[in-house]
Amino acid sequence: MIHIKINKKLAQETINKLREENIIDDNYLIKHDDDYVYIPVRKIIDNYDTVDIEGNKKENNNTKISFSYDVIGNIAIIKGKTENEVNYLAKELIKRKNIETIYLDRGISGEFRKRSLELIYGSDMKETLYRENSINLMVNIDKAYFSPRLSTERLRISNEVNENDSIIDMFCGIGPFSILIAKKVKCNIIAMDKNPDAIELLKKNIKLNKLKGNITPLSGDSGELIKDYSNIDRIIMNLPHDAYNFLVPAFNALKNRGVINYYEICDLNTLEKRMKFFRDSGFEIVYKRIVHGFSKYLNMYSIEIKKI
Ligand code: SAM
Repeated sequence: MIHIKINKKLAQETINKLREENIIDDNYLIKHDDDYVYIPVRKIIDNYDTVDIEGNKKENNNTKISFSYDVIGNIAIIKGKTENEVNYLAKELIKRKNIETIYLDRGISGEFRKRSLELIYGSDMKETLYRENSINLMVNIDKAYFSPRLSTERLRISNEVNENDSIIDMFCGIGPFSILIAKKVKCNIIAMDKNPDAIELLKKNIKLNKLKGNITPLSGDSGELIKDYSNIDRIIMNLPHDAYNFLVPAFNALKNRGVINYYEICDLNTLEKRMKFFRDSGFEIVYKRIVHGFSKYLNMYSIEIKKI
């Protein structure tokens, strides 16, 4: 059974990345020794050390299970449809040395996209330090939205940014897009969020990382704040249930040949409508992919459009 062999310190970041790309074989358990973590994978992928060792099959492999989880620092957040699934997953996660606290996620809601959380293991600890793509992020899972699932998107976009670009991160949260971009490129970023707690965390995260670029945090409604800006090179719109309501002010702030990174959770019909709207509004679609599934008919799409 092929496993990716990874230094313990890099394990969580790698697991999140591979999980997002659906590469981990979830029929098998992740193994550990003192220095390394061994991740069972469906296929060999470049740029990782792989070893062929015996796989450790999960106990209830015959039962159809539907659960998911995220690990942020030493906190695990799990979702399961039944009590059995939740118990099974919690039992597996407790075996991992780095997990100190487990919450059951009862859903994300409201304008600030906050999670409703129930503590099911460990101490009630909502703040943690998370490392992703070589940046450090102070996360508070109670006060502001954060998900590790877009790490590949963040890396992809940070690789596209040019020196001196002007960027607006319209729904920045605690700043994972802005911080990574500013870490890698000398550019100017205006980072907006309506949740004042998210902006406070962003300010801490700016201090935590050695940045080449400049980030200006702004607290408020980005639909209004963005009206003060024009001639912007790139606008990031990560508000997947509502971002379409903010497209027109974003279009107005963008310069010719400027780019929008747009995220939406929708079905195929809505996706088609959105594509038509982009083309009719004078944009070409330069990139489109499913980031992850959301429900039976809904997916989270990443769409990159360029003003012609
Ligand atoms: N981009 C961040 C990330 O990747 O972690 C956060 C994305 S989260 C899905 C959406 C964010 O938009 C939340 O932090 C929420 O507070 C913020 N938000 C919602 N409505 C807003 C508005 N009208 N203006 C500015 N921010 C808003």
